[in-house]
Amino acid sequence: MAYTNFTVETDADGIGLVTWDMPGRSMNVFTVGVMDELNAIIDETVADKAIKGVVITSGKSSFSGGADLSMIKSMFSFYQDEKAKDPATAAQKLFDLVGRMTGLFRKLETCGKPWVSAINGTCMGGAFEMSLACHGRVVSNAKGVKIALPEVKVGIFPGAGGTQRVSRLTDAQSALQMMTTGQSLSAARAKAMNLVHQVVEPDQLIPAAKQMIKEGLKPVAPWDERGFKAPGGGIWTPAAAQLWPAAPAILRRETSGNYPAALAILKCVYEGLQVPFDTGLKIEQRYFTQVLQTTEAYSMIRSLFVSMQELGKGARRPAGHPKTELKKVGVVGAGFMGASIAYVTAAAGIFVTLIDRDIEAATKGKTVSEGLVKDSIGKGRFTNDEGAALLSRITPSIDYADLSDADLVIEAVFEDRDVKKAVIEAVEAVLPAGAVFASNTSTLPITGLATNSKRPADFIGIHFFSPVEKMMLTEVILGKETGDRALAVALDYVAAIKKTPIVVNDTRGFFVNRCVLRYMSEAYDMLSEGVPAAMIENAAKMAGMPVGPLALNDEVAIDLSLKILKAAVADLGDKAVDGRHMQLITRLVEGEGRFGRKNSKGFYDYPPKPAKKLLWPGLKDLYPQKKADEIDVNVLKQRFLVTIALEAARTMEDGIVTDPREADVGSILGFGFAPYTGGALSYVDGMGVKAFVGLCETLAEAYGQHFNPTALLRDMAAKGETFYGRFDPYGVKTAA
Ligand code: NAD
Repeated sequence: MAYTNFTVETDADGIGLVTWDMPGRSMNVFTVGVMDELNAIIDETVADKAIKGVVITSGKSSFSGGADLSMIKSMFSFYQDEKAKDPATAAQKLFDLVGRMTGLFRKLETCGKPWVSAINGTCMGGAFEMSLACHGRVVSNAKGVKIALPEVKVGIFPGAGGTQRVSRLTDAQSALQMMTTGQSLSAARAKAMNLVHQVVEPDQLIPAAKQMIKEGLKPVAPWDERGFKAPGGGIWTPAAAQLWPAAPAILRRETSGNYPAALAILKCVYEGLQVPFDTGLKIEQRYFTQVLQTTEAYSMIRSLFVSMQELGKGARRPAGHPKTELKKVGVVGAGFMGASIAYVTAAAGIFVTLIDRDIEAATKGKTVSEGLVKDSIGKGRFTNDEGAALLSRITPSIDYADLSDADLVIEAVFEDRDVKKAVIEAVEAVLPAGAVFASNTSTLPITGLATNSKRPADFIGIHFFSPVEKMMLTEVILGKETGDRALAVALDYVAAIKKTPIVVNDTRGFFVNRCVLRYMSEAYDMLSEGVPAAMIENAAKMAGMPVGPLALNDEVAIDLSLKILKAAVADLGDKAVDGRHMQLITRLVEGEGRFGRKNSKGFYDYPPKPAKKLLWPGLKDLYPQKKADEIDVNVLKQRFLVTIALEAARTMEDGIVTDPREADVGSILGFGFAPYTGGALSYVDGMGVKAFVGLCETLAEAYGQHFNPTALLRDMAAKGETFYGRFDPYGVKTAA
C-alpha cells in the first residue's frame, strides 16, 4: 500500500523498514493523517505473513518533534464547540479524542510482531511515546541527538502513555524529573536511565535495529509479562516512602502550584504504578482530558507554541519585499551589548565589522566572542573548526569605510544623544544605498534619533536584551518615518540570528521596559509600605516570575533606575515619578552607594563566591516593618501580575503594541512574565476582562491610582470582549 507520510520496504529477512518522511515539512510531526497511516501500517504488517518484525525510522535529519501542537490546539476549539452544544457530553468526547493516540500506541505494542524504533535524530514528545511503545529502541550517537518529553513546557504532559511507560522503565524519581521539567536527554543518558536499549554509530542504526529482531526480540512489553515489577519495586517500598511524601512539596517549591500539568504528571505516575498498565493508561487519559480543559494549557500552547512560531516565521513582516540574505553587518560600539551582538551575528554565518573608538576597545569586544566560542566548544556545541570559522567572521576596526558594503549597521554606543548623533552621521557617510541603520538604544525614542538621519525610512530600532546570546527576544521599534523595507530587513536579520521579534511603535521604554519598570515600581511601593523584602521577592516568585523584582533591579543596576527616574522628571515634570520611589532610589544610590550587582551592593549583598547573595539587612531599617501575618501574600502576587498586565493593556490602548501575540510572547521572553498565564494579555483574557477590571478597582482603592483600569479595559468589560477578540491577530484589526 502507498502512504503519504511513510514508505514501507521489506528486506530478504522479512523485516519491514517503515520510514517516516512527511512531504513539504522539515520535521515529522503527529497529525491525524499520520495516525491514520500508522494505524494502517500496523494492520498491513500484522496481516503480511512474510513480515517478521518492523523497524521504524525517519527519513529526515531529526526523528520527530512529536504531536503537531496545532492539532492539540484544534482539540480546544472542538471542546469549546461541543461544550456550547452539550456540556454534559463535551468532556466525554474530549476524553475519547485524546485517547486516540494512546490507543494507537497500545495497538502497536500488542500487535504480536516486534517493532524497533531506530531513533536517528532528535525525538520528542509523542514520537518518543511511540518509541516507548515499540519493543526495542536503538539510538544514533550522532552529535546533538536529543530525547525529551517536553510537553510540560507548553502546559500539557505526555498523555499518550508516556507517564506510564517511563515510570515502568526507570525509577520514579528520574521519571518525574524528566517529565516535570521537560528536560532533554542525550542518547547516553537515555540509555543510562534504561529508556533505550542501544546507542550506536549512525551508520549502524538500521542494522542494529534489524539485528534485535533477528535475535528474537519478544513482541511483548515488560509490563505485559507476568510478575512485572516497576524499577525500585513500585510505590510500597522503603525507597518510595522517601520519595513520595516529598515529591509534591518539591514540585510546589519549583512551580508554586502554578502548573496543573506538572502536578498531573505526579498523579499519573503515583496512581498509575499501583494499578495494571491498561488502567494506568486510563488514569493518564483522564488527567490529560482535565489538563486540556485548563486555561493554563490553552494559553501556554497559544503563546509559547503557536504565536512564538508565527512571530518567528515573520507574522509581522510586510509583504512585497524579497527576503534579504544578510552578508555583512556592522556593529558600532564593542562594549557590553555590541560585543555580544557581534557574536550572535557571526554565529548566524554573517560577517561582522565591529567598530569602536580605538582598536583596543574593538579588539576587546571580539574577545567576548572568543570566550563564548571556547565555552561552546567545551560543551560540545561547536567543533574547533566551527568555532574558528565563527571568529574569523568578526573583524575589529576603527574605520567606518569598512561599512561601505554592509547590509545593516547596528549601533550600541553610549546611551547619549550626541554620541549617537555623531555615529549616525559617520555611518551614513559610507553606508550604501538601501542598507539599514538600527539603534540598540534602550531609552531614547527612535523617531528622535532618526532626526539625525538623512534617510529616516531606513532607520529602525533593534533592541536586544542582555545576555544577548541567551535572551530569545528582540524588540523591533518603528520610528514615525521607518519604512516597510527597513522593517523587512530588520525581521530578516532577527530570523537569521534565530530570535523571536516583536514589532512595536515608538514610545519611552518601548514595550518590555515599560512593563519591567512597573514590576520594579510595585516592589518599591511594597518596600515603602513596610513589606519585608524577603516577602516581596518570594511573593513575586510564587506569582510565577523567574526573578524577584529587587534581584532584577540589581541586575539592571540601581543607578540606571535613578537615571531613568531623573530623565522622566526632566522630560515630563515632577508628577511623572512617585516621590517615594525617587526617595528610595536616591537614598540607595547617593546615600548608600548601592548600585546593584555591578558593585556587589544593591538590594542584595554579593559576598565573594561561592557564598550566595543575601538581601541587604539595611533594607528593613529604611521603613517601619509590617509583621508577616498582617500581609496577604495572595494580594502581593496579584499586585505584581496586575500592574504589569495593566501596562501591557496600556501599550495596546496607546497603539504601541498592536498584536496581542506580541504583548504575550514579549512579556514571557522579555522578562519571564508568569509563563503559565500565556503572557500579560492572556492573563487578562484568562480571567475575563470584567473580572480583571474588578480586581484593578479593588487594588486601586487599597494601593493607589496606578491600578485604575483604563478606558479601553472598561469598554471591553462592558462589551464582554477579550484582547484576542478585539485585536484579532488573524482578522481585521480594530483600532482601539
Ligand atoms: P557600554 O558602555 O558597555 O558600551 C558602549 C561602547 O560604545 C563602548 O565600548 C564605547 O567605547 C563605545 N563607544 C562610545 N562612543 C563611541 C563612538 N563614538 N564610536 C564608537 N564606539 C563608541 O554600553 P552598553 O551597555 O553596551 O550599551 C550600549 C547601548 O545599548 C546603549 O544605547 C544602551 O542603552 C543599549 N542597551 C543596553 C542594554 C544593557 O543591558 N546594558 C540593553 C539593551 C540596550
